[in-house]
Amino acid sequence: MSTFWTEFLNAAANHPFPLTPGGFLSPLDMSPDDVLFPNVPPAPGMPCAGEDRSIYRRGARRWRKLYRVNGHIFQAKRFNRRAFCAFCQDRIWGLGRQGFKCIQCKLLVHKKCHKLVQKPCSNEHVDPVEVKDDANGESTLGRASSVRSRAEPEPPLPETPPAPAPPAPVRPEDLEPGSQRQYSLEDFELIRVIGRGSYAKVLMVELKRTKRVYAMKVIKKALVTDDEDIDWVQTEKHVFETASNHPFLVGLHSCFQTPSRLFFVIEFVRGGDLMFHMQRQRRLPEEHARFYAAEISLALHFLHERGVIYRDLKLDNVLLDHEGHIKLTDYGMCKEGVRPGDTTSTFCGTPNYIAPEILRGEEYGFSVDWWALGVLTYEMLAGRSPFDIAQAADNPDQNTEDYLFQVILEKTIRIPRSLSVKAASVLKGFLNKNPVERLGCGENGFLDIISHPFFKSIEWEMLEQKQVVPPFKPRLEGERDLANFPPEFTDEPVHLTPDNDTVIADIDQSEFEGFEYVNPLLMSLEDCV
Ligand code: ADP
Ligand code: MG
Repeated sequence: MSTFWTEFLNAAANHPFPLTPGGFLSPLDMSPDDVLFPNVPPAPGMPCAGEDRSIYRRGARRWRKLYRVNGHIFQAKRFNRRAFCAFCQDRIWGLGRQGFKCIQCKLLVHKKCHKLVQKPCSNEHVDPVEVKDDANGESTLGRASSVRSRAEPEPPLPETPPAPAPPAPVRPEDLEPGSQRQYSLEDFELIRVIGRGSYAKVLMVELKRTKRVYAMKVIKKALVTDDEDIDWVQTEKHVFETASNHPFLVGLHSCFQTPSRLFFVIEFVRGGDLMFHMQRQRRLPEEHARFYAAEISLALHFLHERGVIYRDLKLDNVLLDHEGHIKLTDYGMCKEGVRPGDTTSTFCGTPNYIAPEILRGEEYGFSVDWWALGVLTYEMLAGRSPFDIAQAADNPDQNTEDYLFQVILEKTIRIPRSLSVKAASVLKGFLNKNPVERLGCGENGFLDIISHPFFKSIEWEMLEQKQVVPPFKPRLEGERDLANFPPEFTDEPVHLTPDNDTVIADIDQSEFEGFEYVNPLLMSLEDCV
C-alpha cells in the first residue's frame, strides 16, 4: 500500500468528529458515544465529506545525509571492526567508531578526512541511492535508519586482529539475587498497548512488586541502526534522566534489555496525548491553547538550558496528566550537548513541523523548537495545520513531501480571522521563516516569549510549580482507566512476539552495553511503599 494510503487510512480510522461538525464541544460534555462521523464516506477508508485530514499521527524521521566529494558519495558509518582511513592511513576509531564510507566505491575515510580525499571515485557510474530513506522500508511512518546494511558486506580491510566477541546481553538469571536494582521483563505485568510511534510500541505495565503502574516504551534493537546520528538511544536515555527533574517532562524509572529489544520504563501519563484530544475537539479555545503553549514553553526552555534541542514537538508527543498539565515525552530525536550559539545540521523531524532552516539545509539551533511550537499552537487554535495541503490531495504532484516542504518554505501563513490579535501575533512570531527574527530566538531569548502579550495572563512562576489549575481535566475513572487512549492501540493484543534467532544473530549486542539503568530517586520512593 502506498505511503499516502497508509497515512490516509490511519487518519480516517483516527478521525472521529463531534456531533456538531465545525462546532466546539468541550470534552467534559462529551462521552465516547457523542463522537460520530458527520456523514458516510464514499468508500471504506475514504474521508467523509468535509473531513479535515491535516491533523493526524505522523512519524518522525531522520534523513540520511550524503556528502559528495570528488565523485564519491560518503555516508556516515559505524565500524565494528578495526578499519583504516584511506586518506591518512590511521585507524578509524573513537566514540561511536564513526567514519565515512563511499556508497559507490566503498572507500573508507575518517569523517575529518573526507573533504581532503583527492582520489576520484572509481565507481561513479552507479546510480546514486535515494537520499531520503525510510526507517523500516514500509512507509514514511518510520524513522530513517538501516544505514548499516546487513546484506552488504564490508570491503576488505587492512589486516586486523579478530574482533572481540560481543559481550552477552544481561539476562535476569545472571543478576545476583539480592543485588536487586536491576529490572527485567519478568518484573512487570504487561497490561495494555497504549501507543505506537515511528519506531516504538508503548505499553501500560504494572511493576509486580509494588503494583505501581508505568508506561513501557519498547524498541526493537533491529531498528537501531542509524549511523548518521548513532547515539540516539543513549541520547533518549540521557534526556529521560534529565527530564526526571521537571514537572512537564516524562521521567524515567528504569531501562533494561532482552536480546531483541530495549525497554524504557517511564512515568505513565494518564490523560492521553494532545493528538487524541484534538481529534475529538477539533479546535481549542484560546485560553486552553495558551495554557498548553505556556507549559510546553517552560519544558522546552528547561531542555534548552541543559543543552538539548527537542526536535520533535508535535501533538502526539505532548501528553496530559490526570489533572490536565502537559508532559512532553519521546526524546528519540533530541540533540544533546548544544551550548548557546552552537548549531547542528541533521535533517530530521516530523515533516509537518520541520523548520524552514532545516529544510534549507542550514545549520540550526534551538530555534527549530520555537518554530514547531508555532505549528502546534496554530493547530490547537485553528484546528488544522498551517500547511494544510489537504485540498491538494487529488493532485498527485501536490501530495508529496517535497510539495509540503515547498509550502513550508514559501507559503505565507494565513492566520484565521477568528483568532484574536494577540494570538495572531504570537503565531506570526513563532512562525517567522527567518530563525534570527523568530520569537524566542533573539537576544532576549525566552524572555521575549514570556513577555509576549499573548501570554500576559500567565503567571509563569506559579505555572512552573503546577499552581495554575489546568483548563481541562481529562475524564478518568481510576488509575488504570484507558479512556484517553485510542482503541486502535488498546484493542491490540498486548504480548511481545517471541524472539527470532535469525534476527538476533544479526544484532551487535555490544552496541547496547550499559543500557541498564535504575533511577535512584524512584527506587527509594518505591522502598517507602
Ligand atoms: P515514538 O518515539 O515511536 O514516537 P513515543 O515515545 O512518542 O514513541 O510513544 C508513542 C505514543 O505512546 C505517544 O504518542 C503517546 O500517545 C504514547 N505514550 C508515550 N509515552 C507515554 C507515557 N509515558 N504515558 C502515556 N502514554 C505514552
Ligand atoms: Mg513520538
